[in-house]
Amino acid sequence: MRLILANPRGFCAGVYMAIDVVDQLLGILDGEPFFVYHDIVHNRHVVDRFKDRGVTFVEDIDEVPRGSIIVFSAHGVSPAVRACAVERDLTMIDATCPLVTKVHVEAIQYARRGWQILLVGHHDHQEIIGTKGEAPDAIQVVDSVDCIPHLQIDDPDKLVYLTQTTLSMDDANTIISALKQAFPGINAPPKEDICYATTNRQHAVRHLAPQCDMVIVVGSKHSSNSVRLTEIAELNGTRSQLIDDVRELDSSMLDGVETLMVTAGASAPEDLVQELILELVNSYDCKIEQHDIFHESVEFGLPGSLKKFMRGRSVDTDGRRIEMDDLAATNRFLDKHGIPYTVVDLTVSATN
Ligand code: SF4
Repeated sequence: MRLILANPRGFCAGVYMAIDVVDQLLGILDGEPFFVYHDIVHNRHVVDRFKDRGVTFVEDIDEVPRGSIIVFSAHGVSPAVRACAVERDLTMIDATCPLVTKVHVEAIQYARRGWQILLVGHHDHQEIIGTKGEAPDAIQVVDSVDCIPHLQIDDPDKLVYLTQTTLSMDDANTIISALKQAFPGINAPPKEDICYATTNRQHAVRHLAPQCDMVIVVGSKHSSNSVRLTEIAELNGTRSQLIDDVRELDSSMLDGVETLMVTAGASAPEDLVQELILELVNSYDCKIEQHDIFHESVEFGLPGSLKKFMRGRSVDTDGRRIEMDDLAATNRFLDKHGIPYTVVDLTVSATN
């Protein structure tokens, strides 16, 4: 069986940063308890591994003892959550992805100017809850074209759409086209809101899926960008399955498959992909081809709130970063196991 590994896949800069925040705190606090509001990223393994190391995750700030340390997840929080944390005298460390913060800032600025904001995204996603909370009276969430006739618009010339960072570009374009048809004067965000990592991973699947019989996406069911990758594969005519790890691999998935593609959502750890590769090579005699579609070089530094906290504890803010090159790590993994692979460089451009 041909096994195509899609590059890029897996962790994005925002996820690396958020995981690094929790990892660094574990080192600094050395057993002192701290709390994370919501899953730090939407991956079961990442969260379970941190739980095993003593981190407590909460869905309600009221669960956090007064005076404790709270970390906000990569998806961002609303001002109401921050206010609640202030009221409980919590030390706040903000691991919100800067690309999510960018959408918050856009929402705040448009709302201050008296504009109405149509926020394209999923009602119940943590990112949308946080962004809407910045200006609840000015924002209406649009999760499908069916919502459009029910929107309450005061002045169609003071209208802008923003989007969730992890949407399917195809779904977003369908909704945005319908919004433009309904409100021809609607403004676009100053810069694309769907982030570089979502865009690149979706491009890779769109490009490679048509030559495959099956696409396996490593990621959790509540990871928006992982689910979108399976949908894009299916839209391009290729069966797709989302699995959390190799234990969910069912041999019936691979019946009749001659070319298999493996990719991973932006919150899925690369070691889970490596375990899957090993199983596929050992049990299905897969021949590995790494297909490089985009080379990413985005990196986010530690958030200011963590650096301030570190300085307060006399900890070097430049030290101890987690390794950010999963591709190199997987090459080392393949070499260590004596697994040959070829690299197909298809790089056409990069969205950074
Ligand atoms: Fe940030 Fe995009 Fe990664 Fe979300 S998927 S954490 S917005 S880089």
